[in-house]
Amino acid sequence: MAPQSVEDLAGILSRIDGRGYKAYKDLTGAYHYQRFTLHIDHVQADPFAPPSRIRLTLNHDHSGFLEEARQTKSRCLGVEDFLGRLLERNADRGERFGFRVDRHGQQIMKRTVIQLSPALLEARLGVDLPAAGRRIMGAEARRLLLEVLPQVVTRSLLKSSVDAEALRRHQDVVEDHATLSSLLAEHHWVSFVADETSLARRAGHDDRPLPADGDAPVVPFQSPAPLSAEVTLPHAGLVRGMAIPEGVTLLVGGGFHGKSTLLSALSLGIYAHIPGDGREQIATVPEAVRIRSEEGRAVTGTDISPFIDGLPFGISTRDFTTQNASGSTSQAANIIEMMEAGARLLLIDEDSSATNFMIRDEMMRRLLRPGQEPITPFLERVRDLYDARGVSTVLVMGGSGEYFRVADHIILMDQYRPRVVTDECREIASTLDQSTGGKPGKDAAGAEKAFTKEKPRRLSLSGYGKGSRIKIKAVGTRRLVVDHEEVELDSCEQLMSPAQVRTLAETLTWWLEGKEGDLPSPSRCFEIPEALKMWSGVVHQRGLDGLCRFRRSDLAMIRPLDLAVMLNRLRQLELC
Ligand code: ADP
Ligand code: MG
Repeated sequence: MAPQSVEDLAGILSRIDGRGYKAYKDLTGAYHYQRFTLHIDHVQADPFAPPSRIRLTLNHDHSGFLEEARQTKSRCLGVEDFLGRLLERNADRGERFGFRVDRHGQQIMKRTVIQLSPALLEARLGVDLPAAGRRIMGAEARRLLLEVLPQVVTRSLLKSSVDAEALRRHQDVVEDHATLSSLLAEHHWVSFVADETSLARRAGHDDRPLPADGDAPVVPFQSPAPLSAEVTLPHAGLVRGMAIPEGVTLLVGGGFHGKSTLLSALSLGIYAHIPGDGREQIATVPEAVRIRSEEGRAVTGTDISPFIDGLPFGISTRDFTTQNASGSTSQAANIIEMMEAGARLLLIDEDSSATNFMIRDEMMRRLLRPGQEPITPFLERVRDLYDARGVSTVLVMGGSGEYFRVADHIILMDQYRPRVVTDECREIASTLDQSTGGKPGKDAAGAEKAFTKEKPRRLSLSGYGKGSRIKIKAVGTRRLVVDHEEVELDSCEQLMSPAQVRTLAETLTWWLEGKEGDLPSPSRCFEIPEALKMWSGVVHQRGLDGLCRFRRSDLAMIRPLDLAVMLNRLRQLELC
């Protein structure tokens, strides 16, 4: 249908004023404004349904962003993220009726709300169309669409009205982060934290930086000498910081000295951060994952035998399946599954680990006869992980020195300041070994073989039924509901936006329903690595729209690893 004029839109609104809410459907279509086109793609059925979906498109004669649209991928992302934030601020007033834009956090991520291409600038919004009870409020809708909307466009989507300096800074941090990430690979580092980085956050539920002028002292990061390195970034120039090499790195130190805070910052180094966040110059390899124990999770056919073997009553651990994993079996499964999905760096905190999975001390070793303890602690596998499989680990462990013997680098956090203590720790370990004769006995059988080969799992989602539409809903930042099953994603600590959980929900819907078209869609019987590759191919070609039945405004990019986390936690996942 050819676009209509704004006068036509005004005409429809006066015609349907005061009628039942359903008459809003007459608005579906496109309308030319002076500087943009409004596309009303879908109108909500009633005032309580999810918001109506609209898009605004501007050609670059009007937007002024042609030059930016032709720049590098990271500079484009910088513009998109910057404009998304402006749109959020200017359009979403949080009123009962009005525009809806997803909240943007501290991380910069590819989202569907703003899309910049050499042809167009497109913005997507939700809108709750005004009603009194179930009657259309025509005058109010007219004010929203004919007066407020053009103002929102003027303030948020025109180059002539954005703060050019702030936009440039925003693009620069994204580009610097991309460069820093590529330098990691070049130098065989897993992470880099620049000097002066501000790690501390306001609160557990508030990811903004701790203000420097508040009551609590803020200690800026200073790299410890032996791990200091310099890099040159396109905009920040020469930057000094701590480079964590591949291998096994241990973070130690007293309680409340900033270990977990550093680990969390490392794990979020997969994202660029907004200017002023304090973490702009942290980068971590994108294949980094948090690993924790997760009592009660379901596990389907995962080979956890490198860690756990010989369970009571002969339960197999080569294809371990349970609806109710223990602390240690869940943590073992998390590691094996993430390796299967392509993880290259494991980030583990003692605060969220199962003790018996992490360590076994000398006295306990003496008490238990061989065969009495099914667990080979992570301590005895962490080196094999790197040596045989190239998977690095950064581990926080303040409560035990057992890892002194196996770490390549040991960093002591002392009043939020890192110091490298590798030699000191080795010294302590060897003195103790001489006095007690104790060394962690690597279990002879299988130390070399562990991790060298796993039989590929073939998995199936047939348990979720065929054909019938399955209700899949994203809830907050870490939860999905699939029909009546709640899928907890707490272990996905790197998911930072509800928009990412919606992407997981859309992916699962796409998976279960299949999608007509020229692109491949997943089969119900699959191996994780190939399934992730196919998903990435679709998203690479079509963007997140490639997964959805309609153009959504409220999705954000995830990593294949995040998708693997979700798939592995589905309780009706089966082997096939
Ligand atoms: P640990 O894991 O060593 O017990 P945490 O990382 O949990 O310690 O940090 C303890 C407290 O110190 C937290 O409230 C955290 O926000 C704060 N903190 C951490 N690093 C810094 C820093 N560089 N400057 C100021 N406060 C910090
Ligand atoms: Mg801690």
